[in-house]
Amino acid sequence: MGVAGGVYSLVLPRSVLEGVLRHASEAYPEEACGVLLGVVERGSGVVRRAVPLRNVLQSRDSFWFDEEEWMRVVARGREEGLEYIGLYHTHPGKSPVPSLSDRHRMLECPGEVWLIVGFEPGGRVSLAAYRVGDDGYSLLCIPVEEATE
Ligand SMILES: [Zn+2]
Repeated sequence: MGVAGGVYSLVLPRSVLEGVLRHASEAYPEEACGVLLGVVERGSGVVRRAVPLRNVLQSRDSFWFDEEEWMRVVARGREEGLEYIGLYHTHPGKSPVPSLSDRHRMLECPGEVWLIVGFEPGGRVSLAAYRVGDDGYSLLCIPVEEATE
């Protein structure tokens, strides 16, 4: 399942980010991951919902998920008119720079947006979003706009 239309920036409502941060602190010190659902408007992925997935690796420095669980979330979103925009995951105590395995996975998911959240409970939050470029191998860091709603 690919992403409809090219997404070259992300709009992230405050309430969605707060949900991601709650998930991040529950999972801490392990990585948290989930699905970003929303609508695509003029090249921008407007996130409406972030749905947590279980990190089956239960790891502090990597994540992956059960692909059937992922498929159920994407299908349910579609029934509600929401498109699959991509994935989010957290980097506990680290910056939101893609790891080597993140890079490998991303290249397998062209068109998807990956939101990475560097997170520390009670500490600084830093986030960045990436996608594979049109050349199919470079990684682009794309703008994230935080919206009040
Ligand atoms: Zn990562």
